[in-house]
Amino acid sequence: MIRVTTFAGKSVAVFGLGGSGLATARALEAGGASIAAWDDNAASRDAAVRAGVPLVDLSAADWSRFAALVLAPGVPLTHPAPHWTVTKAKAHGIEVIGDVELFCRERAAHCREAPFIAITGTNGKSTTTALIAHILGSVGKDVQMGGNIGTPILALEPPVDGRHYVIECSSFQIDLAPSLAPTIGVLLNLTPDHLDRHGTMENYAAIKERLVAKACHVVIGIDDVWCRAIADRLKRSNGGTVDVLSVLSPIHDGWFAEGRELVSQSGREGVTGPIARLDGIGTLRGRHNAQNALAACIVALRAGARAQDLQPALRTYPGLPHRMDEVGRLDKVLFINDSKATNADSTEKALASFDRDIYWILGGKPKEGGIGSLVPYLTRVAKAYLIGAATEDFAATLGSVVPFERSRTLEAALAAANRDAASSEGPEPVVLLSPACASYDQFKNFEQRGDTFRRLVHALPGVTIRGQGAR
Ligand code: ADP
Repeated sequence: MIRVTTFAGKSVAVFGLGGSGLATARALEAGGASIAAWDDNAASRDAAVRAGVPLVDLSAADWSRFAALVLAPGVPLTHPAPHWTVTKAKAHGIEVIGDVELFCRERAAHCREAPFIAITGTNGKSTTTALIAHILGSVGKDVQMGGNIGTPILALEPPVDGRHYVIECSSFQIDLAPSLAPTIGVLLNLTPDHLDRHGTMENYAAIKERLVAKACHVVIGIDDVWCRAIADRLKRSNGGTVDVLSVLSPIHDGWFAEGRELVSQSGREGVTGPIARLDGIGTLRGRHNAQNALAACIVALRAGARAQDLQPALRTYPGLPHRMDEVGRLDKVLFINDSKATNADSTEKALASFDRDIYWILGGKPKEGGIGSLVPYLTRVAKAYLIGAATEDFAATLGSVVPFERSRTLEAALAAANRDAASSEGPEPVVLLSPACASYDQFKNFEQRGDTFRRLVHALPGVTIRGQGAR
């Protein structure tokens, strides 16, 4: 745990008592602050009591005694409307911050020498974060990974010289971290997301820009107009430290992917020309993962890895559960769990990763916009298996373009897809769970949906469990 000493002797309100809120309360208390913790949800309050975190009803508290309100990132700061605790804090002139801000202040006060790598973007944050941590770990660096992935930032080991913090940051966390100034800031991409919580795309992009604005080194994808504009601004203000990358086309002054090859034309880090290849790396399929891998390689080089370390580290990257996760193989049929794909954009990445012979399981609780955007990829699909509430909507879109059946349940879908894929003539048919839907109609969450798929695959007689799927 990181003891937060910058509020020692002061009283701090902590609102939102999920995993990161509880870690925040403990870290503040261990550093000598007095805590008033609260949550609107009774079950969360009960869990806090069980965890030994002292509760104070903040709706009835004397706010003039608080030095700060530390808010969990899931609680609305501005949109659709400020949470009532934010309104109270503002009325009393109290700053509203989050756990990443507490980490930044602690590091600034006690250990600036601990490299701090912060990663954001609309998509690919977790993959890039995990991959950076994996590469740096594989070259022997002392690495702590967390934030929006896995361990809350304040539950990590405390900063010491040379300890690398690889931290995934959501837009909500950035919004609550005014002094965020990482050693290396990574901004992968920007597309409309969470606009209910950020109002407009302009506001959302401005929040994401803050992660790189004060970074010593910037690594930024330039394949969308928003990031390109940010990169141009940063280059004008801070020319020497901005590494730009593209997976759409070669660029003469940065880093790019050409097919499955990652290439540097930046002249930086003493590397020019090919730096690594992604072919045959099952955990990094698809062009989107080329963006993630390229960003991770640039960061690793900046953090002291050698160019020759990259390829072996990429090859041993175990992947993350539920994201294009290879969970098994039965003769020539490959089974992929992409349960994290809860919208058409994510599923598009999965379909684009295979040229043909996809036996595609999809459906669940439908999202606005449906799967119309996936029609150009249907030539790759041998057959679709529909599950959950989206069945009739999706059946209408698939129409006569692609054969499909109404499987209703994941169990029935897997059995049918396995049967059909086994009789395919293709060299490597793929049974792909990439639902393009939320899971809540049939499962607790996408993790439970993915775990169920993996369990069903592992129960198939003769299946070989490989790589990440062995988890
Ligand atoms: P995040 O943490 O930002 O949600 P993940 O790494 O967990 O991202 O990936 C989630 C999904 O987002 C993946 O399953 C894939 O469909 C999509 N994705 C991943 N990386 C990218 C990228 N660089 N560009 C676009 N989409 C991506």
